[in-house]
Amino acid sequence: MFGRAPPKSNNTKYYEVLGVQKNASPEELKKAYRKAAIKHHPDKGGDPEKFKELGQVYEVLSDPEKRELYDEYGEDALKNNGGGGGESPFDIFERFFKRQNGGPGGKRKGEDAVHALKVSLEDLYNGTTKKLSLSRNVICTKCTGKGAKSGASMKWCSGCQGSGKKVSYRQIGPGMAQQMHHPCNECKGTGETISQKDRCPQCKGDKVVNEKKVLEVHVEKGMQNGQKIKFRGQADEAPDTDTGDIVFVVTQKAHPKFKRQGDDLFVEHKLSLTEALCGFQFALTHLDGRQLLIKTNPGEVIKPDSAKAVNDEGMPMYGRSFMKGKLYIQFNVEFPGSLTGEQSKALEGVLPPRKSPQLKDTKIDECEETTLHDVRIEEEMARKQAQTREAHDEDDDMHGGGHPGVQCAQQ
Ligand SMILES: [Zn+2]
Ligand SMILES: [Zn+2]
Repeated sequence: MFGRAPPKSNNTKYYEVLGVQKNASPEELKKAYRKAAIKHHPDKGGDPEKFKELGQVYEVLSDPEKRELYDEYGEDALKNNGGGGGESPFDIFERFFKRQNGGPGGKRKGEDAVHALKVSLEDLYNGTTKKLSLSRNVICTKCTGKGAKSGASMKWCSGCQGSGKKVSYRQIGPGMAQQMHHPCNECKGTGETISQKDRCPQCKGDKVVNEKKVLEVHVEKGMQNGQKIKFRGQADEAPDTDTGDIVFVVTQKAHPKFKRQGDDLFVEHKLSLTEALCGFQFALTHLDGRQLLIKTNPGEVIKPDSAKAVNDEGMPMYGRSFMKGKLYIQFNVEFPGSLTGEQSKALEGVLPPRKSPQLKDTKIDECEETTLHDVRIEEEMARKQAQTREAHDEDDDMHGGGHPGVQCAQQ
């Protein structure tokens, strides 16, 4: 950059302006600056130009990083390579510093590369390792990210005067324009150009090359949906940039049998009415292939929509996989659709007695006949609520429209 190696002379001038030695301590610099500033203050008849110079010099020397840069390259490095008319040497100093040293605050933070990592519930229960092939940009080794052949010099981009940005104006109303900054298209926002013949043959001046990489992603037992697995500093590399992370977001695929909530597992199991009343046993295949024997106690009756839990057969807990959550089993009891007269009689003989006794014929004659329709209560209620809401909305419209909340709003 910069045609390199500016003359090492002339890097004592700033110290001379303040009247201190090159190895002056920050305290000595401060003292000298104060003394000189009082002496040359325009209010007290001092030279305004001299006063201004003092300020600029002190600004550089009081900043340890800028001072170090000045000591090494001197002021000429700035003046010779300006190229961007109208900028003060200090603006260029700033930029030069950022590019050259890439010190803290000078480097851009590269973007993280985020990928969804689809895993099965079995993977999350047992743990697994996934090998993933990714391609990413890495700094070109041939030119170490300069983009130019060794010895070739880089120039500030003429399209943006090296700022990497271009400004355009957009008319947003009569007599009003919005100023917009966007990356310079000529240098892709880098602020530099390399002539065709000087470009690095390996990266063609791009400074980076594409690389295929295989990552081994360890999915640990008990990881949660949405949990992130980070590979620090493995995303796309770019010059003067802190490389971002590759981030895998654990994304759990739906399981046909088990549902998961935190460390607990839920499974539904259908029972016939006979099983619900007379007991049952069945083998439940777990996520690691083990067979769990699920059975009722003798004489136990399972009610519809009831649930039971097995301790320590849920998901392993992340980071302490020897501990596990609960396994909940939700029972759905399937009732027979209809019964024959014989079946009814047989059941009535063994089941508990009726709640309401059979009505006498005379009593039935006193009652009015009704017809029962099949309905689903939840659906009916939802439909009713929707109707009520619509009616309310119409009401609001009649009162001059608008949202009631807006109408009533007060300061
Ligand atoms: Zn440019
Ligand atoms: Zn290269």
